[in-house]
Amino acid sequence: MSASVIDFVATEARFGAHNYEPIGVVLARGEGVWVWDTEGNRYLDCLSAYSAVSQGHCHPKILAAMVEQAHRLTLTSRAFHNDQLALFYEEVAALTGSHKVLPMNSGAEAVESAIKSVRKWGYEVKGVPDGQAEIIVCANNFHGRTLGIVGFSTDPETRGHFGPFAPGFKVIPFGDAAALKEAINPNTVAFLVEPIQGEAGVVIPPAGYFTEVRELCTANNVMLVLDEIQTGLGRTGKLLAEQHEGIEADVTLLGKALSGGFYPVSAVLSNNEVLGTLRPGQHGSTFGGNPLACAVARAAMRVLVEEGMIDNAARQGERFLSGLKDIRANAIREVRGRGLMLAVELHPEAGRARRYCEALQAKGILAKDTHEHTIRIAPPLVITSDQVDWALERLATTLTQDLS
Ligand SMILES: *Cc1c(COP(=O)(O)O)cnc(C)c1O
Repeated sequence: MSASVIDFVATEARFGAHNYEPIGVVLARGEGVWVWDTEGNRYLDCLSAYSAVSQGHCHPKILAAMVEQAHRLTLTSRAFHNDQLALFYEEVAALTGSHKVLPMNSGAEAVESAIKSVRKWGYEVKGVPDGQAEIIVCANNFHGRTLGIVGFSTDPETRGHFGPFAPGFKVIPFGDAAALKEAINPNTVAFLVEPIQGEAGVVIPPAGYFTEVRELCTANNVMLVLDEIQTGLGRTGKLLAEQHEGIEADVTLLGKALSGGFYPVSAVLSNNEVLGTLRPGQHGSTFGGNPLACAVARAAMRVLVEEGMIDNAARQGERFLSGLKDIRANAIREVRGRGLMLAVELHPEAGRARRYCEALQAKGILAKDTHEHTIRIAPPLVITSDQVDWALERLATTLTQDLS
């Protein structure tokens, strides 16, 4: 490592809260699927900032929209209208088929906003007695880092020593429709779930699960809240992951790629009933729906469609998955994925996934371990066949190495 690398890393360690353990690379520039470190080494980004940079790093059209808007108007607060919010609403509604939109900033804020909204809907529309609303969630969920959300996490690292937590959540196993049926009672207002559990290691539920979930929610007047913050906007090869199951959520959460990685933008999408319960003064955000965010999100959605990124994710995802399945390595326990949301799970005795990620870094690929034994692979949706093959070659040599 050169002096400059040591300096950045040491300075972060000295002043920063140590709530992350980054891989030892200091990035200085990005373009499309590629990023460069401070020494000029190039890497294929196979994390895409947890799917926030789906459109590729520094997409020129999103950049232009951001710069243009930043010259005109950045923030008004919602105390006044601005000339971008209506257009953002119209375009996100047209893209997703939703009727109402609540703009927020981070993904966690969208989740919190959905929780507040479905509770309010439960009291005011469904008729649940005040203070009794229940929301069902899944084991091994990841919905963000705020206090409300970590309170219903099942990961000891995530929730340990952060309590006391808010009541009103019931945890069931993921992918188990019978457990959902069992857990629903007259006070259940919502089932909050990821279509594919991302942080848990790209866990795909059994086929037909969401069809059953949809039926159970409809039959019991329970709002189905799909957290598509990671799976949404093309990542799995469809605009929304719900489309793989042919269902429609009552409430859909978007974030991450909604801004193409330029700026935190998230949104709660729903029918009129749920978001319609929010009246002036009952919820808000200083930055939510600001004109800069809206202009960025509009461009981010536009390029996703105009440049065929969703179809490309489906096509390249298939190529990547079948290439991964062809790798014969003792270290591999399972390969799974949908679209460009992929994971290689290693046998525990093969060593920590982190070691493989570090070995991949040396070969020009940045990937991220999750939960000790899984390597997550999620490149930008603009990746080409040649780039997929390039990555597969390096993954094959790395995974056949003995790093235990
Ligand atoms: C990343 C993520 C979140 C949280 O988003 P932040 O912007 O980090 O708050 C919530 N849900 C899912 C499924 C995510 O992947």
